[in-house]
Amino acid sequence: MSNQRVCIVGDGLSGLMTAVVLSKLSGIEVNLIAKKATKTFDKRTTAISDTNFKFINQNITSLGRKLFWPSKKIELFYQTSKENINFLNLDEVNSNLMYVFENDKVKSLLLKEISKNKIKLTRKDVKNLAELKNYDLVILCIGGQSKIYNNLIKKRSIKKDYKEIAITGYVRHNYKTLNTSQFFLKEGPLAILPFSKNYFSFVWSVKKYFFENNSKKITTLVKNKILEILESKQNIKISNIQSYPISLRLRRQYHQKNILILGEGLHTIHPVAGQGFNLVLRDIKKLKEIIKYYVDLGISIKNSYALNDFYNSRKPENTIMSLGVDATHSFFKQNKYLDPFKEIIVKNIKNNETLKKFSKIISNRGLSL
Ligand SMILES: Cc1cc2nc3c(=O)[nH]c(=O)nc-3n(C[C@H](O)[C@H](O)[C@H](O)COP(=O)(O)OP(=O)(O)OC[C@H]3O[C@@H](n4cnc5c(N)ncnc54)[C@H](O)[C@@H]3O)c2cc1C
Repeated sequence: MSNQRVCIVGDGLSGLMTAVVLSKLSGIEVNLIAKKATKTFDKRTTAISDTNFKFINQNITSLGRKLFWPSKKIELFYQTSKENINFLNLDEVNSNLMYVFENDKVKSLLLKEISKNKIKLTRKDVKNLAELKNYDLVILCIGGQSKIYNNLIKKRSIKKDYKEIAITGYVRHNYKTLNTSQFFLKEGPLAILPFSKNYFSFVWSVKKYFFENNSKKITTLVKNKILEILESKQNIKISNIQSYPISLRLRRQYHQKNILILGEGLHTIHPVAGQGFNLVLRDIKKLKEIIKYYVDLGISIKNSYALNDFYNSRKPENTIMSLGVDATHSFFKQNKYLDPFKEIIVKNIKNNETLKKFSKIISNRGLSL
């Protein structure tokens, strides 16, 4: 049988990683189509679990270790009117809990791997799926917003507009030690993610009106907030501030014939738990296994149950994890009636070893227990 042809559309983290992973399989030829490169950079960082880091490591020939900053400890704080309660600390001694990388740098690394693996890259804006009819499998990694989905998917998605904005940016500092942490503040959750010796990134999810009312002085506001929660007077420097609207969208249909949706298009979730790309990586791993199975048997992917198998194996975890993240967000949202009870709950969580163990397993491996 001649090579089966797979076309991946989109050069975000999902498209690039899918192209690299599938190009390792024999019996298929991978093509990547992406819009013309622009000068707008993705100045975010992404936190991935230890298991997902190992998956990336297995698929990239020369992984720049320095690009992935390891973390052995994660601290969680809940803000009350009197104090920030440190209610849960997750730590590991002999392994790492997670790794943080700069999106731009890892995208460049993946693009190098793509040229090394001789994947054909075409720069164009795909407008019509009929352009891709000669492929055995088409994988759309075109983000959460594309209109292309309207003609493809008939079932309605689960949707929610949080009316929140995630403010992101980099902070240069001189702290000797700084752990990865998340502060559930009254304005919204603020994550601190060290990604090198003197830099950490932050993700602060706030109400849209709060962001709009403060947009002109956002850098100062973020700086003061970070110094306040770190109880510090150090001279930190903020750069690369960007903002992202936050929504929840879960597809109830993953594919149409031989066209599959992957990445943010399949599940867009709140960034509070840093799980979005972690889910995508688990999707890619499963997709690789399924495609390998059919290709090794000499079965044409186009006429197989491959995409049904993918849907059946990934939908339960994607749905439960995404709704779990939504529930976490709702729990910590400010509510003057429930906040006194939350304070009691979080104070009782601290020494719960079972919860710690469970949280570590879920964030590392998802629901593949
Ligand atoms: C603030 C924030 C923080 C986050 N933090 C984390 C974290 O810590 N951990 C984690 O696991 N996840 C995190 N995520 C989620 C993570 O960023 C995404 O899952 C990840 O970037 C994958 O995105 P994507 O590639 O699916 O989509 P996108 O990044 O949106 O990429 C889509 C690509 O498709 C291209 N495209 C679109 N239409 C077309 C077309 N018609 N033709 C050709 N190309 C097209 C676009 O140009 C773009 O390059 C975070 C998300 C946000 C918003």
